Amino acid sequence: MTRFGAAATTAALRAAVGSARDAIVRGDDASLVAVPDTLLARAAATLAAADRGSLVPVVNATGVVIHTNLGRAPLSARAVERIGEVARGYATLEYDLARGARGSRAVHAEGLLCALTGAEAAVVVNNNAAAMLLVLGALARGREVLISRGELVEIGGGFRVPDVMTQSGASLREVGTTNRTRLSDFTAAIGPSTALVLRVHPSNFRIEGFTEQPPLAAVVDAAHAAGVAVVEDLGSGNVDAGSPWEPTVQASIGAGVDLVAVSGDKMLGGPQAGIVLGRKALVERLRAHPLMRALRVDKLTYAALEGTLLEHRAGRAHDTVPVLRMLHTPKAAVTARAGALALALRAGGWQATVIDGESAIGGGSAPGVTVPTSLVQLACPGWSADRLEAWLRARPTPVIARIQDGSVVLDLRTVDPSDDASLAALNAPR
Ligand SMILES: *Cc1c(COP(=O)(O)O)cnc(C)c1O
Repeated sequence: MTRFGAAATTAALRAAVGSARDAIVRGDDASLVAVPDTLLARAAATLAAADRGSLVPVVNATGVVIHTNLGRAPLSARAVERIGEVARGYATLEYDLARGARGSRAVHAEGLLCALTGAEAAVVVNNNAAAMLLVLGALARGREVLISRGELVEIGGGFRVPDVMTQSGASLREVGTTNRTRLSDFTAAIGPSTALVLRVHPSNFRIEGFTEQPPLAAVVDAAHAAGVAVVEDLGSGNVDAGSPWEPTVQASIGAGVDLVAVSGDKMLGGPQAGIVLGRKALVERLRAHPLMRALRVDKLTYAALEGTLLEHRAGRAHDTVPVLRMLHTPKAAVTARAGALALALRAGGWQATVIDGESAIGGGSAPGVTVPTSLVQLACPGWSADRLEAWLRARPTPVIARIQDGSVVLDLRTVDPSDDASLAALNAPR
């Protein structure tokens, strides 16, 4: 009783008795449904299910590395450790240790972010959508923001550039066409009411064929010549020059972009966060804006973000930050694990074969870019692929698989190697 609490236990028992009563009214055999052991077992099952909560760990065997529905970036050991340290007690969230007085939370992670990217200043908010809302609200409210028609995008999950613009109070001025925008389109549109030029990285789509976008540095030069700042929504937050899938933050800063906004939980491999990096004077305006109070992050986010950034700074991120480690795992290493898993699964009564496949970066990063992988194709006589996929999802630790060409496939690229043994121990259902 003390495990679940008296109120929850009473409610579960009442529900079990109630459903037994309904069953008897329907004409079911009372000697089967209303025996005390059955009622107790039902109540216990209800309590145990509720005790698990709805947010539970899963094994991601989809091969989609930054899987938004599965929580995007798994954190590095360093980030998890730092969360533990900071969560258990008090911390210097808004306390200046040197002065023994109140400090600012808006400074955490800034030094690391600047060291990694060459930016003058940086500020952290809840996510990249919040970052864009803050940037546009603080710097362009009541004025015009120029954006290429080819970048008026929806990123997914309801993040639409025109809608964020409306919410921020800035007005959108579209330039160019869907497929072609020239530098002259920007220069012709810049005027006294222009607050910013906005570039949005096309994270989740590609325009192919007869296309043209002016180089970032040229847009920056033209905007600066007219005294207008350039903001880039870069999305993925790649700070690793050795990861070729996405442009880096440092390249944008180097090209002269005044503010760059990115997510913390995509290619950076950290917690959910929005990070704005760039010129000090502009970052100061963001910090001073009233929206900052509503969009700020908590100590756990800072702890995880600093832990992640420290791994990047130490040059170990390819090995220690899971998103990068997974993306950089050579195909041969995945193939070896897939072979061992297929062997074990066959011993457990499955039909399991290793086939070639592709992993996806996901999270609206690197559209259409995949990484070669090996898949374990799984079957069980008499079971459809849909039923097998659902069976895997119903395990105590749910396994999220993919259905490809009518078969269930497992991609070990996105499975932590420490989970291989539990997958290998799955016996085929019967
Ligand atoms: C992912 C993404 C966003 C949204 O970021 P969140 O951190 O999920 O709010 C915005 N813009 C671009 C270009 C993106 O790729």
